[in-house]
Amino acid sequence: MDLKKLANALIPDENVKPLEYYEELYPLRDLPKGAEVTRLAPSPTGFMHLGNLYVALANERIAHQNGGVFYLRIEDTDEKRKVEGAVEVIHASLKYFGVAFDEGADLCGNYGPYYQRQRAEIYHAFAKDLIEKGLAYPCFCTEEDLEKTREYQTENKLLPGYYGEFAKCRNLSEEEIYANLAAGKPYVIRLKSQGDVDVKHTFHDEVKGDITVTENNQDVVILKSDGIPTYHFAHAIDDHFMRTTLVIRGEEWLSSLPIHIELFKTLGFRLPKYGHNCSIQKIDGETRRKLSKRKDPEASLTFYREQGYHPEAVRTYMMTLLNSNFEEWMLKFSDKPLDEFKYSIGKMGKSGALFDILKLNDISKTYMSKLSEVETYDFLYAWAQEFGSEEQKGYFADKEYMLKALALCMGVGGKKRRKDFICAKQALQTVCYFFNDGFKNAEYRFEKQTVKRILQDFAAEYTYADDCSAWFEKVKAVAAKNGFATDMKAYKADPTAYPGNVSDVAEMLRIATTGLANTPDLWTIMQILGEEKTLARLQKAIDTL
Ligand code: GLU
Repeated sequence: MDLKKLANALIPDENVKPLEYYEELYPLRDLPKGAEVTRLAPSPTGFMHLGNLYVALANERIAHQNGGVFYLRIEDTDEKRKVEGAVEVIHASLKYFGVAFDEGADLCGNYGPYYQRQRAEIYHAFAKDLIEKGLAYPCFCTEEDLEKTREYQTENKLLPGYYGEFAKCRNLSEEEIYANLAAGKPYVIRLKSQGDVDVKHTFHDEVKGDITVTENNQDVVILKSDGIPTYHFAHAIDDHFMRTTLVIRGEEWLSSLPIHIELFKTLGFRLPKYGHNCSIQKIDGETRRKLSKRKDPEASLTFYREQGYHPEAVRTYMMTLLNSNFEEWMLKFSDKPLDEFKYSIGKMGKSGALFDILKLNDISKTYMSKLSEVETYDFLYAWAQEFGSEEQKGYFADKEYMLKALALCMGVGGKKRRKDFICAKQALQTVCYFFNDGFKNAEYRFEKQTVKRILQDFAAEYTYADDCSAWFEKVKAVAAKNGFATDMKAYKADPTAYPGNVSDVAEMLRIATTGLANTPDLWTIMQILGEEKTLARLQKAIDTL
């Protein structure tokens, strides 16, 4: 068969350039010894899974700790999975967690285009070369043909796929091929596999160690009927020309590794190192399962941003999942920047990283409690601008006022720093009563008339200038006037002798001014709110009773 003629009929010369052209266009990278070129190669689905951050961090650390390059390639060959704006989502979510690319999609770089759809010419050039060499061929099988083969293989308990006697178009004659083409039959281009499933090799996986790999014998599709390449073919060509040296990717690709090994060999490319990392799992009742996009909100990177987890806390937690010796390092060098930790691919879990949100929360609490006053303010401010409600954005109109509220509720800027704040959302909910007058009051535990009288008595006496003890004397006086115990000892000796005690009175005042039965120090709250607001809230509470 005239293979050159066939290759040209399928992929005309004018659509491609000679292969050397691409080798020259994308020269070997001039990098220091030991530097790795790694990448993240997501599909633009618009959804960023925690696993994407996990694999991105691993690749980023490896590249950057040795002067290498980390780039972003968009694998958009599957039109059905593509979502508008997805690349912005990838950049925004990873940037938030401190993962920065050196080059790639929507960035500059000399190895682009970094969108696979824009690289059709290169894929076609190499597919054409393989056809010319008799290492690839057109396949005209229809979906029904393939379905029939599948059924036959299942019934006869044979290995599934397009290989050997089932590779019907592998040996079509020249006449048959041209007749099919003349009839306008759609076709794909398949690799003519040279592999043998009875042959096994030892392969060194950077994460899993030495594994046994069986040779591929499948005539896999390399170009689909619309000329778009499959992942197998596209990634081999891209990793070669983008000069990738190390691929860390999800273990779901491990089963395709034989295909990739064969493709690199057939294309005459040097195989990069591969590390297949395990998926992130969680405990669900009695079982351990993959963190699922559908079932688990915490699987989405957006979740952490919407809740306002501090990015450094999430990054720290991810490092504990990524490297088994990270925690030990963190305990020793808690003040050092994370990037000083020497990340090692060999210390990645081999059998599944277990996600534990309680541990993430603990790390977050510690992290939040160490932020300075300015850092806390800036972090909450930035979060509110992006994810907060209109009301929450308004919390930042008066910086002094906000800082006072944060000082009281979180201990920011003071000695008694609280350690129970996980995220920005929770922090802003805690200070909300300083800003929102429309709150719903907690239930008073006393009769309306009693509460009303007490609030009225206190409002009549309240003076903003009172210091804490003068203020408390007034609360006591109001309690006494209404028959409530002011001496706790006396009260405890005979609780039935009183309707309640002074702390019950304080609770009524608290509910009236903040809506809550439990808050930090009430005198300070009233000082922050100011006289006008305090009295207005007391009056509003009185009016509703
Ligand atoms: N597009 C593939 C995915 O999203 C990339 C796998 C790889 O890193 O090679 O799973």
